[in-house]
Amino acid sequence: MRFLVIEDEPSIRRPLAASLREVGYAVDEAGSAAQARELATSFPYDALMVDVGLPEGPQSGFELVRGLREQGLKMPVLYLTARDAVEDRIEGLDAGGDDYLVKPFHLGEVQARLRALTRRGRAEPQSSLHWRDLKFDWTARAVYKAGERMALTAKEFALIEVLASHPGRVYTREELIDRVWDGRFEAESNVVETYVRNLRRKLGDEVVKTMRGLGYSFPEVE
Ligand code: CA
Repeated sequence: MRFLVIEDEPSIRRPLAASLREVGYAVDEAGSAAQARELATSFPYDALMVDVGLPEGPQSGFELVRGLREQGLKMPVLYLTARDAVEDRIEGLDAGGDDYLVKPFHLGEVQARLRALTRRGRAEPQSSLHWRDLKFDWTARAVYKAGERMALTAKEFALIEVLASHPGRVYTREELIDRVWDGRFEAESNVVETYVRNLRRKLGDEVVKTMRGLGYSFPEVE
């Protein structure tokens, strides 16, 4: 999954982005509403984290979200804010936001809120998925094969998470790169192929299907 952190204060933005990358998410950073608008309309983010007071003005986070919703963007929005007045919460939610975290926040809580917000974007909103002898635990970010925890890297997990969130859906190589890697990554031509090969070696050949000329998919759940 790929997130966009929109926050003008680097001492908040950077550790937040780093903590999310550490667990394998792709994360882009924006320091202004203008930069955020450009990124949010260019990449398929799974959620946005939006500081309410951006350099453009005291409530520019709300305005940003209102504008993105008017453009038809549907990704979940989590506000990060120093304000905790109830009027602000109401305004923010009415502007098109989905949830609120008041600073200072706990990084673990940010991750839990993001899991909750992105769960509804999956074909099956449960916290785990069973397929043959595999169990995908979306909360622990772990895969078990016949009950044994498999050693996947964070990026291997991130790739299978995208595919398995929509069994049967075919993703092109470019779509997978856009969803699993962030803007800091210079995509090498064979990166997806390499990760697919690793996943098959660890989880079994059939865990990722190659649709020749189209892309990759996770098998339909039986
Ligand atoms: Ca701010």
